[in-house]
Amino acid sequence: MSGSAPAIPAARPVIGEAEIEAAVRVLRSGRVVQGPEVAAFEAEFGEELVGGLHCVAVNSGTSALQLSLMALGIGRGDEVVVPSFSFAASANAVRLVGAEPVFADIDPVTYCLDPNAAAAMIGPRTVAVMPVHLYGHPAAMDRIVKLAARHDLAIVEDACQAHGAQLHGRPVGGFGRAAAFSFYPTKNMHALEGGMITTADAELARTLRLLRNQGMEQRYANEIVGANMRMTDVAAAIGRVQLGRLPEWTERRRVNAKTLDALLEGVRTPQVVEGARHVYHQYTVGVPDGRRDALAARLQERGIGCAVYYPTPIHRLRPYDDPARPPLPQTDRACEAVLSLPVHPGVGEGELRRIAEAVNEVMAKPEATV
Ligand SMILES: *Cc1c(COP(=O)(O)O)cnc(C)c1O
Repeated sequence: MSGSAPAIPAARPVIGEAEIEAAVRVLRSGRVVQGPEVAAFEAEFGEELVGGLHCVAVNSGTSALQLSLMALGIGRGDEVVVPSFSFAASANAVRLVGAEPVFADIDPVTYCLDPNAAAAMIGPRTVAVMPVHLYGHPAAMDRIVKLAARHDLAIVEDACQAHGAQLHGRPVGGFGRAAAFSFYPTKNMHALEGGMITTADAELARTLRLLRNQGMEQRYANEIVGANMRMTDVAAAIGRVQLGRLPEWTERRRVNAKTLDALLEGVRTPQVVEGARHVYHQYTVGVPDGRRDALAARLQERGIGCAVYYPTPIHRLRPYDDPARPPLPQTDRACEAVLSLPVHPGVGEGELRRIAEAVNEVMAKPEATV
């Protein structure tokens, strides 16, 4: 294959004319922090993505997780069940409020939290569970909701990769007490940086609004101790543009995934459970026989921007490493086998063919020759 074919990036964040015009419009207006654009973004996100839930915009997905935990009164002495197979932000948010993440294993089919494994990690200090809708596939919320009810646990969804994902027709973001979305540039939609908390609970929404703004509703009448996690109006204006295009982009991701499903050989393509709407933040294959790193290297040589999410499970990262932790075999196995291929809306049909041809060619050869 030609080494001169243009590279296919793993992600291609859109900063187009509409985003630039929106940012300039806000800058010229002079209302730049938590103003009318933020209010409009919250209303539109609620309407379009989560069935009219309360939405509270903040400066990142990590802040959204952290404030959700804080607003629920979770802190020192508390434990939160979290999958280890996620971005470190999921566990960091728990530590940042002074609580302790307790890591549970994943379902090897969806790579999301395994409800049985989560149940096994519940102890006397457990107050919450944080399912992650990893890669854009909804976690097993039907079972996690029952588990949480049985043990009187709060659910905080990490929906940072799952804008528009659904389970049995219900959007992620509304299954628990609160949910966090991210608008980092590589996510399905972005706002440069930013996050959104969604909740059905009006009282909790008010607490979240206080917490993101130094505990103030009225200026200088601080009611509680809060942080500064406000979103700028520049971010919100960009987020509104992106939200408008999200349905089209999600459809492109889903069509691209379908094309890859049909073309790929020799790897395990992403599985979608009955009733799930996958929004393919990542298109992640399982590479058999310890050949993942070799395949990744061959694809990168050909300019195909594949990536491993995540090479190290959170429970093996330095801040969380504890030899006494129970083993998480499915998590460890996934970390060694997963490889994410470009699926974003910027990838066209010809590029998908190039990706599939490269994967199939490498996987068709016996290991020793690649
Ligand atoms: C991106 C991401 C976050 C954090 O979002 P930021 O906006 O980068 O702070 C949290 N959890 C998961 C699963 C993510 O992918």
